[in-house]
Amino acid sequence: MTNLENTLSIFALGGINEIGKNMYVVQYEDDIFVIDCGSKFPDESLLGIDLIIQDITYLQQNKDKVRALIITHGHEDHIGGIPYFLKQLNIPVYATELTAGLINLKLKEHGLLRRTELTIFHAASKLSFRNVGISFFRTNHSIPDCVGIVFHTPIGAVVHTGDFKFDLTPVNNDAPDIHKMAEIGKNGVLVLLSESTNAERPGFNPSEITVGGHIEEEFRKAQKKVFISTFASNVHRVQQVVDAAQKTGRKLALLGRSMINVVSVATELGHLRIPDDMLIEPYEISKMDPEKVAVLCTGSQGEPMAALSRLSSSNFRHVEILPDDTVILASSPIPGNEKNVSRIIDNLYLLKANVIYGSGGSTGMHVSGHANQEELKLMLTLMKPKYFIPIHGEYRMLYKHQQLAESVGVDRENIFIINNGDVVDVDHTKAYQTRRVHAGRVFVDGLGVGDVRNIVLRDRRVLSEEGMLIIVITVSKTDGQLISEPDTISRGFVYEPDAKELIKEVNEIVKTTVTNLSSIHGSKRTAIRQSVKKSVESLLFERTKRRPMILSFLIEI
Ligand SMILES: [Zn+2]
Ligand SMILES: [Zn+2]
Repeated sequence: MTNLENTLSIFALGGINEIGKNMYVVQYEDDIFVIDCGSKFPDESLLGIDLIIQDITYLQQNKDKVRALIITHGHEDHIGGIPYFLKQLNIPVYATELTAGLINLKLKEHGLLRRTELTIFHAASKLSFRNVGISFFRTNHSIPDCVGIVFHTPIGAVVHTGDFKFDLTPVNNDAPDIHKMAEIGKNGVLVLLSESTNAERPGFNPSEITVGGHIEEEFRKAQKKVFISTFASNVHRVQQVVDAAQKTGRKLALLGRSMINVVSVATELGHLRIPDDMLIEPYEISKMDPEKVAVLCTGSQGEPMAALSRLSSSNFRHVEILPDDTVILASSPIPGNEKNVSRIIDNLYLLKANVIYGSGGSTGMHVSGHANQEELKLMLTLMKPKYFIPIHGEYRMLYKHQQLAESVGVDRENIFIINNGDVVDVDHTKAYQTRRVHAGRVFVDGLGVGDVRNIVLRDRRVLSEEGMLIIVITVSKTDGQLISEPDTISRGFVYEPDAKELIKEVNEIVKTTVTNLSSIHGSKRTAIRQSVKKSVESLLFERTKRRPMILSFLIEI
């Protein structure tokens, strides 16, 4: 029998075997702490789905024990699910200043600002709950104001790194708390949860500062306007764009809602410094000398509605990309976005722009925000954990991270590669993974959360691949006999004027089926509709080898 009372339990409700919708849980006795609440973008197979979030059934079943939602940083895969979470479970949220600023934008959008208890902490803050104290350490990443979290429990410390890398010459002097990390390690770490995104990549990341140098160089070389696109949340890179514009005597226009939002929040909180007279409005661009203008825009991932995509198809109010303008994509496409990005680059060349792009930093316009192998080893060495759980990554990344941990001295039997829902229980003497809690995914579609399930998705897939056929049958209320010809309408299946013969055949088979049936069953609606569906289905498959969705409507007069 497991003595659950004294057990520390750690598990993920999202973020394992995937990139996105991060959520980790640390539970000590009756106190549950939730770390991060991200969302994930769907792949093409999930037709019409806007967003994927975690299934938080376990937390709802234990809602009296959930003490806090603590956020490591402001990326979508860590904060994107917060409004949906809070609508299900209204618990206090803790975040650093910039992260809180970005969360507030979401709360406002969802009308949750007033009912949410959002507490701001700093890297030096300490929180205390009944049996658990919480402290933080500052890390580097591709957004400012990131922290790792330490849970001080009666049986030992649990450390969650958040997303991190080690940048020793960071922009704005936002240095990582390496001394503090060493001290945490010196005091003893029972369990370390560390992110695995770049566990397959050898070496160290170059410093973000190197990107700034390349940006400035291109700003100097450019003869006409410069357009540069990056993640709005990469405030350090935005700062370097601002600096390059200043050094080369260019004014800066911001395009895209998220760019304008993030820049205003980051400036207000002092994470971004923009000279007073630097920003111009989009409509002013065409009135200025092109060599005095830089444009910072969203859409580096090829998002169809974002600024860069619209600029590349000459579809942005007041702003035009002209021949010999320079366009820089200061980012690397996230897997899955390559096609959209390539299409934009094609369009930019068609506009005769000078395009600077390239994944993996080949142009020096991008460095990753995630620790490479040597940095992951450094974190493991600083923390010297007894038990290690690689998180934030797909299976191969977790596996590589396990090997890295072993290479710096963590015992193999003390490393747990888990799935979302797998619980690692830790007591005074050992850690073990034997039980699971419910974990899963929930789809957000428009205003609906969780109402679109697999059956709806299956229908959408059939509709998108095979189209549909609608058959309207009008029968007599008294004897179920057909009153008029069936009416057959195709959507996405065949083009009706070209398929007159087929439609005629369909109508014939409908008539025969209804006539035969009504003599036996009278006007039993379901029986008629089912038989019609069946016979039409087999006719269509025989003639076309396709299986469209068939909807039949029975009208009784
Ligand atoms: Zn991140
Ligand atoms: Zn992340």
